[in-house]
Amino acid sequence: MRRIETLSVHAGRDDFASLGVHAAPIDLSTTYPVHDLIAGTASFDALVSGAASAANPIYARLHNPTVARTEQAIAALEGSESCVAFGSGMAALSALLLARRAIGSHVLVVRPIYGSADHLLACGTLGLDAEFVAVGEIASKRRADTSLIIIETPANPTLKLVDIRAVVAAAGDVPVMVDSTFATPILQNPMALGARYVLHSATKFLGGHGDVIAGVICCADADAMPLRQMRALTGALLHPLAAYLLQRGLATLALRVERAQSNAIQIAERLAGHRSIAKVYFPGFAECAEAHLVGSHAGAQMRGPGALMAMELHGGFSAAAAAMAAVKLITPAVSLGSVDSLIQHPSGLTHRVVDEQARAAHGITPGLLRLSVGIEHVDDLWADLDQALLKAVGAARVAPTRAAMPA
Ligand SMILES: *Cc1c(COP(=O)(O)O)cnc(C)c1O
Repeated sequence: MRRIETLSVHAGRDDFASLGVHAAPIDLSTTYPVHDLIAGTASFDALVSGAASAANPIYARLHNPTVARTEQAIAALEGSESCVAFGSGMAALSALLLARRAIGSHVLVVRPIYGSADHLLACGTLGLDAEFVAVGEIASKRRADTSLIIIETPANPTLKLVDIRAVVAAAGDVPVMVDSTFATPILQNPMALGARYVLHSATKFLGGHGDVIAGVICCADADAMPLRQMRALTGALLHPLAAYLLQRGLATLALRVERAQSNAIQIAERLAGHRSIAKVYFPGFAECAEAHLVGSHAGAQMRGPGALMAMELHGGFSAAAAAMAAVKLITPAVSLGSVDSLIQHPSGLTHRVVDEQARAAHGITPGLLRLSVGIEHVDDLWADLDQALLKAVGAARVAPTRAAMPA
């Protein structure tokens, strides 16, 4: 069995030798000639019922070879039979809800999760009954019509870890979906712990360069068929150019995650001693309640803490806003998992769409910033963060109440 560093580079390249190429070809055809109608009909039938491939792709909404290669690469990394790629992480989540017949049913969700996912589930537009519960409540809240259990670990934006084995044990025969975007397949493989589906916003670490929007679901082949069928029916496709960029990004995934993580470990330690910071949320910290889930020991679920952290600033919103304004090297922007470092304000941006009481209950405060650490030199990152945070405490001292977050 090849190691993940090797798979990162080589997975999804199986047909290169027979094609006589060294880099992935990009197939932009929207349609494919059907000279043999009997064979074409068979291919059509196979693809509309969710087959992974057919002799003739027929039409690009049914199949695309460039996208299929990227899916094979991600499945190899996640250790799943299949991977189905969509136009975004949100398209992937929506397709899963449709494919599981979640509309009109009950869905259990453990908060916190990505802001837009929370919004999609809570706002009611889909016509499903989403109930937000703690892990300990799953077994008692499960109903006959519960179609899916959704968790995210590490969770966005507070890096809270959810014990995947505990959720699977409480789920009974209800399928569990884990959003593993923050961990990547380099650090965590939820299916090995009993999850039925793994979702990645491939926009983040998998693409890794801030230039692709994509989402994937990894699962067993039998579960992938209805997802592919849903993708063909609703058209929530990943474009082949985006798939190409995504596969290109995968080659350096292991390297990028290792470097970003080692930077993050050093930054989290320095932040914990910084006078502007009231609290650092980082999965690797011993004081983090779920620290036992990180490491190489039995019972761990994540091989390392990853490259994201959140920090609560002294001085609340005005300090957080001042830090966003003061960074020079780090980009003040939403998204994460890019080669460059990004800092953002969850309660004002990504998690603004989440119910206000739920935000407060899960520590998504006006003084919270989330940092996605990139692969730059750690000392350059620290120099920028340090000067921005010193300006932030200064600003909070001068104007503790002047700046309030818009309602
Ligand atoms: C970004 C993100 C999503 C949504 O993905 P898109 O590609 O933006 O649609 C879902 N889950 C998590 C954890 C994310 O960070």
